[in-house]
Amino acid sequence: MTLNLTATRPSFVTHLECSLTGERYEADRFHGLSRVGRPLLVRYNLDAIRAAVPRAMVTARPTDLWRWRELLPVRSPDHIVSLGEIETPLVPIPASGGARVMVKDEGRLPTGSFKARGLVMAVSMAKALGVTKIAMPTNGNAGAALAAYATRCGIETVVLCPDDTPDINVREIALQGARVYRVNGLIDDCGAIVARGAAEGRWFDFSTLKEPYRIEGKKTMGLELVAQFGWELPEAIFYPTGGGTGLIGMWKAFAELEALGWIGPKRPKMFAVQASGCAPIVKAFDDGVEHAERWEGAHTIASGIRVPRAVGDFLILRAVRESGGIAMAVDDDAIEAAVVECAAKDGLLLCPEGGATLAAYRAALDRGLVSDSDRVVLFNCATGLKYPMADQSTPLDRHGEIDLATL
Ligand SMILES: *Cc1c(COP(=O)(O)O)cnc(C)c1O
Repeated sequence: MTLNLTATRPSFVTHLECSLTGERYEADRFHGLSRVGRPLLVRYNLDAIRAAVPRAMVTARPTDLWRWRELLPVRSPDHIVSLGEIETPLVPIPASGGARVMVKDEGRLPTGSFKARGLVMAVSMAKALGVTKIAMPTNGNAGAALAAYATRCGIETVVLCPDDTPDINVREIALQGARVYRVNGLIDDCGAIVARGAAEGRWFDFSTLKEPYRIEGKKTMGLELVAQFGWELPEAIFYPTGGGTGLIGMWKAFAELEALGWIGPKRPKMFAVQASGCAPIVKAFDDGVEHAERWEGAHTIASGIRVPRAVGDFLILRAVRESGGIAMAVDDDAIEAAVVECAAKDGLLLCPEGGATLAAYRAALDRGLVSDSDRVVLFNCATGLKYPMADQSTPLDRHGEIDLATL
């Protein structure tokens, strides 16, 4: 299926480009992967943006995601399918992290996760291009964001989850208007079914990085960080890496901002954090190779990063290596301990994937990869409220004797 868009206003998007070969693709048509099966990247006329949009103009706008509109692909405001995409706060966690450690709390976005950033962009573009039906494999949060935005603009959705996806995710996806199926397999098994339907022309395939606009939405994490740090960057970023959209997007954002002259060449060390039960990027990083092999028998409580195979593997690995960071794995016990400690000491409830970044930060500190004088950002990608929590309450009988001094 190829659809055309009648441009409703000039845009700074010039074309799309294969991330592996550099081959050019026309903008304003719906594309999946490139001819060689790799993600497409959106390119802008950055010279024209530099001339038309002074940095101070952006600073003066409200701080929401659309503040960055010239660096985003949606041409007409009429096509924006918004649920209120706010700038997320940087929350210091001095007790469980350290004096210079901050959590970018993405759990405050619509649908409770940063998948909203990617899907608001992808769905808005789908709406602009006249798409009527979308399918997606998901570990939960992406499906919820897709369902919410697509339903809002009348696009039909089919969402396939691994059968052990947290119940709350499966239910919210259905409530928000998608047809949701539990598949007896992992996310890439779900993806294979979605690909089959797309090949038959039944729907558009919205798997991670298989359409070009989610990266553009996720890129706003990097744009926001730069503005929040006063047009500078922290020394290190810890990112829980599944498909790697956010890490790739932020790296792209930094390059675009430097080309605009809005930041200098200094970059943070990028740490791609995975769970030791599913660490294909870490293995590829350690082996010194450009592409990762599928991780067999993937398991972790951090379901958002249980991704055995990433189509943008080489983009993640390049960004991490260029930045001087590393890919590192942490085990589920360390993840759980980090979640508990951050909640108990700093009052901030992380999701397990967010807990993974705190555990990884501590390990990196021990290994001398970062120092405690570095400004560090950890990504908490979803609200901790979406995940199972241990019951630590004690029953209290209001009819009996209550010794208030012991409560
Ligand atoms: C999707 C997801 C991730 C991984 O994000 P990618 O950009 O695809 O690597 C991490 N944490 C949570 C909670 C997620 O939902």
